[in-house]
Amino acid sequence: MISDNLREVQQEMQDSCALVSRSSEEITLIGVTKTVGINQTIELANQGVNHLAENRVDQFLSKKEKMSDFTDIAWHFIGNLQRRKVKSVINEIDFFHALDSLKLGNEIQKRADKTIRCFVEVNVSGEDSKQGIASEELETFIEQLALFDKIKVVGLMTMAPLGSTKEQQHEIFARLKHLQETIQEKKWGFAPCTQTSMGMSNDFPVAIQEGATFIRVGTALFKE
Ligand SMILES: *Cc1c(COP(=O)(O)O)cnc(C)c1O
Repeated sequence: MISDNLREVQQEMQDSCALVSRSSEEITLIGVTKTVGINQTIELANQGVNHLAENRVDQFLSKKEKMSDFTDIAWHFIGNLQRRKVKSVINEIDFFHALDSLKLGNEIQKRADKTIRCFVEVNVSGEDSKQGIASEELETFIEQLALFDKIKVVGLMTMAPLGSTKEQQHEIFARLKHLQETIQEKKWGFAPCTQTSMGMSNDFPVAIQEGATFIRVGTALFKE
């Protein structure tokens, strides 16, 4: 049941916060609804989860349209966004979690009618297969985004590699937090960079302990 799953996730969020003396109000749970249909997505929204994330353009647009009555939902787009699809979604979303190239930034700049709140995706682990900007290139990359007045860098996003140990997860999330603080200290107007989007079903307790402000949770909410 979604309601039981949600209670479990919320309990784990609180427990993780307690371990490191954080307030659970600092953390926003994003329900990742990419694997479920409209009914379960609506059920989750009815349980009070008002941040939802999708990673496929068609499914996102269709759900958003069907849920037009839910006026207080913040829609997050996670995962890869092809440049040719930017036009159809960018003005429909509240947060974009996968900014990882200047070409994509340029396309967003061209198509956006408003300021788009973006997370820059960072490949903290340095794995070849991972999307995202390498840690060493992050500062230069973000500096170049100053060109684009439609883009506001609200924070950094990362994923721990599949099958990583708890210890590795701690290290990766701590490094993202450190990078986020480094950018925040620059006090760039276009890049306040106060947020970290990190932690999924398997590793959100670790991410919270390391300072996550947005966690992206799917499977744990929808398991049978
Ligand atoms: C699917 C996905 C999630 C959620 O993953 P779960 O393991 O189902 O919680 C989070 N972030 C991104 C970028 C995803 O693609």
